[in-house]
Amino acid sequence: MGDASAKRPLPHLDDHNRAFWTGGAEGRLYILRCRSCGAFIHPPRPVCGECLSDAVEPEAVAGTGVVDTFTVNHQPWHPALPPPYVIARVALDGVPGVYLTTNIVGCGVDEVAIGDRVRVTFLPCEDVHLPVFEKVRD
Ligand SMILES: [Zn+2]
Repeated sequence: MGDASAKRPLPHLDDHNRAFWTGGAEGRLYILRCRSCGAFIHPPRPVCGECLSDAVEPEAVAGTGVVDTFTVNHQPWHPALPPPYVIARVALDGVPGVYLTTNIVGCGVDEVAIGDRVRVTFLPCEDVHLPVFEKVRD
């Protein structure tokens, strides 16, 4: 519990994933998009999986979505996220075909349900801003 050695390893930044992992510094969620065919690409990679073009660039997306599926995790990995917490797959609005594996924060683990509306927020951690999501409360 709270053991620093259990921290989640941070991603290695490169030219293709840097926007995704650091966009949170400006409050934006970036997903790579192919300039040739318009497909979104995630996880970040240098070539479009649809048309093999390398004309891929980060595009800021709405940052809202829906919980597609989730599980409750009891292992600590981040000092800001004491267990238990929710690991969810989020379908992003306006980003067809892309699902983010992420965490749901800001509510109890028993308050998350499939179909919940969620919005991105970011956990600053050294060079990266981990994109996590919180429930949209209307
Ligand atoms: Zn393409």
